[in-house]
Order: sequence, then C-alpha cells, then structure tokens
Amino acid sequence: MNTFVTSASVAGPRDGVLRDDIPQFAFAGRSNVGKSSLLNALMRQKLARTSAAAGKTRQANIFQMTITGGLGHPGAWSAYLVDLPGYGYARGGSASTIELAAIIDAYFAAGRRRVTENAARETPRRGAIFLLVDSRHPGLTSDIEAHRWIGMNAATPHVIATKVDKLSRAERTRNLREFARLFDQTPLAVSSTSGEGLDELRRLMANLSKVAPE
Ligand code: GDP
Repeated sequence: MNTFVTSASVAGPRDGVLRDDIPQFAFAGRSNVGKSSLLNALMRQKLARTSAAAGKTRQANIFQMTITGGLGHPGAWSAYLVDLPGYGYARGGSASTIELAAIIDAYFAAGRRRVTENAARETPRRGAIFLLVDSRHPGLTSDIEAHRWIGMNAATPHVIATKVDKLSRAERTRNLREFARLFDQTPLAVSSTSGEGLDELRRLMANLSKVAPE
C-alpha cells in the first residue's frame, strides 16, 4: 500500500546555496545510467530532464522533494535531491579523472559556501551520496573509479543498480553478486520503469536523513 503523496518543487537550478537543515541526497552516475528517470520516478513528477544525448549539463541541479506522511514520519518530510552531472563520456585517463573531480566539486560547493556563510554551523548536512550503476554492466572502470573517488573525497556512496527490469532472474542474481563483490555492499536494485525498489529507496532515504554521510 502506498500511503504517501509526493509533491515536488524545483529548488534549482540555483547557485547551490542551501540555508536550511533539510537532508541532502546526491545522485551520481554515468551518463545514460537512468539517473533522470530515477529522480523523476522518486518525485513522481517530471522535473529532471531525461535525455539520451551526450554532453548534457555540467551543473548540479537541486530539487526539493516533499513527502507527506508514510515512511514512519507523521508529518511532511522533505529532502533535497542533487542531480550531479553524469560522467563517462570522456574515456579513460586524466580526462575521466578531471570529470570525476568536477562532480565531487559540484557536490561540495553547496556545503562549502554554506559553511563560509555561517561559520558557526560546520556540521555536515544530513543525507547521503548515491552512486547509480547500470545493473546490466558490473565492473565498468568508470564506475569503479567513481566509487573510489567519491569514497575518498566525500563519503562512501550507497550503490543503486538501475534498470533491473531488463535482467532475467539469473542475470540479476549474478550481476548483483558481482556488484556486491566490487563495492563491498549489496546494491539496491531499482527500476524506474516498473517501480521496483522505489519504496525501498524512499525508506532508505528516510533512515539516512537522520545521519550525516560518513
Ligand atoms: P541519465 O542520463 O542517467 O539521466 O539517464 P536517463 O534517465 O535519461 O535514461 C537513459 C535511458 O535509459 C533512457 O532511454 C531511459 O528511458 C532508459 N531508462 C532509464 N531508467 C530505466 C529503467 O528503469 N528501465 C528501463 N528499461 N529503461 C530505463
């Protein structure tokens, strides 16, 4: 049963300055991994642009999602969803490293400006970083690099395996096991098409919204 109503309003694109304590969830992943589709499915509204075109926007768009009721929260519950620029079109070597650095930078810019503005409040914003990987392709170098980079420069990302509707049962078991081996955690399997895993992701976000990323 789905008891909650989701309404979403666009807080971005803005300059990344967030002046409140609303938890923040950053979404990173290769271009075409299904990030826009997942954000739209989560918000139940088409705000993040989906596009098959390469070289999309390089800025981090921030959306505000409000969930009323459900998830064990009696009142309205709000989160910022940060849509980080997709990586993976620049192939290999230093180009992809620079790309990843830019992604981390985009994520941290908001936090840094906020701390500068209000030096008394240096506690990290509550929330988490999600790394989206295509469930069909475990072991891509760019994903492994991204996982390492984010872990070293921000916080250990929570891995989400997208497009699971495209896998057979056997492939699914095999690939999830491979992701678990690579990333040291079992990824959350989701499909924006079938809706599988979305309630689990909302529940995970509700739990993670109580703590700062580690
Ligand atoms: P982004 O570049 O990461 O934002 O990826 P998009 O959300 O634009 O999706 C890339 C392509 O994958 C589009 O053609 C989507 O329709 C498709 N797609 C995204 N999510 C799913 C999913 O859960 N299942 C299936 N079958 N296709 C998906």
